[in-house]
Amino acid sequence: MTVPNVTLNDGNTIPQLGFGVFQVPPAETADVVSRALEVGYRHIDTAQMYRNEAGVGEAIAASGLARDDVFVTSKLNNGFHRPDDARRAFDETLTRLGTDHVDLFLIHWPLPTQYGGDFVSTWETLVEFQRDGRARSIGVSNFQPAHLERLAAQTEGVPAVNQVEVHPFFGNAAVREANRAAGIVTEAWAPIAQGKVGDDPVIVGIAERLGQTPAQVALRWALQRGDVVFPKTTHTERMRENFDVFGFELSDEDMAAIDGLDRGEDGRQGPHPDTMDWLG
Ligand code: NDP
Repeated sequence: MTVPNVTLNDGNTIPQLGFGVFQVPPAETADVVSRALEVGYRHIDTAQMYRNEAGVGEAIAASGLARDDVFVTSKLNNGFHRPDDARRAFDETLTRLGTDHVDLFLIHWPLPTQYGGDFVSTWETLVEFQRDGRARSIGVSNFQPAHLERLAAQTEGVPAVNQVEVHPFFGNAAVREANRAAGIVTEAWAPIAQGKVGDDPVIVGIAERLGQTPAQVALRWALQRGDVVFPKTTHTERMRENFDVFGFELSDEDMAAIDGLDRGEDGRQGPHPDTMDWLG
């Protein structure tokens, strides 16, 4: 199975399909990620907030794979937005991962109601990490169009990615369009709506007709829209299922039928980025 690469605006490339580890218990993470690497995943999405970076590092070290063969993303935790805290937290991320660089480092949430609304100095600190080579690419997560506009107006450099909630029930069109217009790749978190795509009759109908599963149909829809995805599972069979999404295609009609499931804000499952203020 060959996973396509997507080229970022800084010239680096990212595998379009990866593996997410949100809610994977720290003590199980090394085992779970080892199995994902065995299945063939070469892109792991973790975060300081998930408390499982050490397990990710352990699995990569044990895999025998070259460091450059695995794309690793982590994210700055909400309590560490001030530049000195961000620098210390980033050092700790590299130590826990057991590596001298991450492939991608993100501001996890903009937290516009915290830190006096300042995420600009946080972004400038990530620019330092990229300049010194310890973060090959840098980006943001859960940024609304207004947050992207502020970065563009007040700072140098454009985020390589914006990782936001996107799935069939929440298409997040305005953010995806703002990303596209600025040359920012959209990473779609919760691409199978945390498992809920399996309850939707339209998705189940398409899956049955094509001989695929609902999760595969939802992932394929995201991939055909050009987004980067990294579904999470602790089950090996589901790791294989979620990885096996390059042997079929959705027609324009099926894509449109899934587009039609978008419930706008009612389909959002996570917090709204404008009001999310949890510092951890
Ligand atoms: P997903 O949409 O990936 O869904 C994960 C859930 O679906 C789990 O409960 C899993 O259960 C289940 N599942 C996985 N595969 C299948 C399958 N084939 N059939 C049926 N059920 C399945 O949700 P996530 O929230 O985990 O999002 C993916 C990743 O996105 C995260 O791991 C994280 O890396 C990132 N993320 C980023 C956020 C951000 O703020 N930047 C927020 C949330 C997520 P089980 O494990 O039991 O198989």
